[in-house]
Amino acid sequence: MADQTEPGSYFVSNYPPFDRWSEAALPAVRAAFDAAPTAAAMGLYLHIPFCRKRCKFCYFRVYTDVSAQDVERYSQALATEASLAAAMPAISGRPLKYVYFGGGTPSFLSVRQLERLVAGLHESFGWDAAEEVTFECEPGTLSEPKVQALKQLGVTRVSLGVENFDDAILEANGRAHLSAEIRRSWEWIRQADFPSTNIDLIAGMVGETTESWQRSVDAALDLEPDSLTIYQMELPFNTVFVKSSQEENTPTPVADWPTKRAWVNWAFDRFVAAGYAVSSGYTLVRDPSRVQFRYRDMLWEGSDLVALGVASFGHLSGVHYQNKTHWDDYLAAVEAGELPLYRGLAPTNRELMIRELVLGLKRGGIDPARLENKFGVDPLVEWDSVWRELVTEGYLEPLQGEPRLTRRGLLEVDRLLHRFFTA
Ligand code: SF4
Repeated sequence: MADQTEPGSYFVSNYPPFDRWSEAALPAVRAAFDAAPTAAAMGLYLHIPFCRKRCKFCYFRVYTDVSAQDVERYSQALATEASLAAAMPAISGRPLKYVYFGGGTPSFLSVRQLERLVAGLHESFGWDAAEEVTFECEPGTLSEPKVQALKQLGVTRVSLGVENFDDAILEANGRAHLSAEIRRSWEWIRQADFPSTNIDLIAGMVGETTESWQRSVDAALDLEPDSLTIYQMELPFNTVFVKSSQEENTPTPVADWPTKRAWVNWAFDRFVAAGYAVSSGYTLVRDPSRVQFRYRDMLWEGSDLVALGVASFGHLSGVHYQNKTHWDDYLAAVEAGELPLYRGLAPTNRELMIRELVLGLKRGGIDPARLENKFGVDPLVEWDSVWRELVTEGYLEPLQGEPRLTRRGLLEVDRLLHRFFTA
């Protein structure tokens, strides 16, 4: 990998990769919905695709110019889609272990919109017994009543998309919020006393320097979140940054990869010195015995995930699917009483194993006995030469039972994972 931050993406958000997904797999997806339920844990993901403004590094499908009627129609569609999904044999009657409101910006919704949305969802899915209900927030969309409403609605984990504390950097990257909104909203979040709070940062936003990064990390530490998530800035195609750099024929000024990794490493050291523990290549947790990532851990260990909303990703009994990715198509399908399925993938047993292996490595290591027990293949034997390579290159601790990445390996984990992929 070149040291420069070139257009493109290294972050592994899914395995098998999306170029393997197709409409041809939809019969397998429908069969998975129609099958008898499995004993796996099940979660719910809701995609709220609205944002106040498009960040210049964002490649998600988000809508920034919507009316109250659009939001209302979409909320109704989510409730309808929930009822359609909940009636399917593979889902009917199963308890939810976790719920995740992601986006976009879930906190874009007003208190009334949120209350109506949750009431509509509860007609099909209850989450009183869920171990975790996560809600992603953008600081500038919060108000004290909205934070209180989230608590009332059963949210247990609030994740605040801070990204940076420097106003000039926030503006240069097209973020909708400024630092004063971070501090104001954090006070409301703290007062509401959620069981778990998270702050997101991005290392290497345009305009970042070592000094500004260190100030942001210390500002995050001052807020004492239960966990901190740090992403390394990428420049995916189809972002404002990449489009304007192509038009102007000048590279987007993002720090190179060694610099970004050094910044994340500095942040890890800073938080570890304050008593936090490294919990994955991107996360630190203040008290691992109290704060868990049920969504991440269950998802990464192969739980079922019911996905609601435009372009959402889910999977049932090992079969992956994505909802229709365009607003009109999604709404038309749901309003016609159909699940809005767009494409899918029925991975092989080997691909499912690789998926769990790479997701385990993103957390820092794997339990080979668990994988062998589940998939009938010993990963230590199957990828023997890869493990040895990683040890030689300093990415993996010397092998003694469970493979564990070194700090260096953790900081570069996404670019190491391809070595395990099946061609
Ligand atoms: S807030 Fe998140 S989803 Fe919305 S535009 Fe920015 S990066 Fe994209």
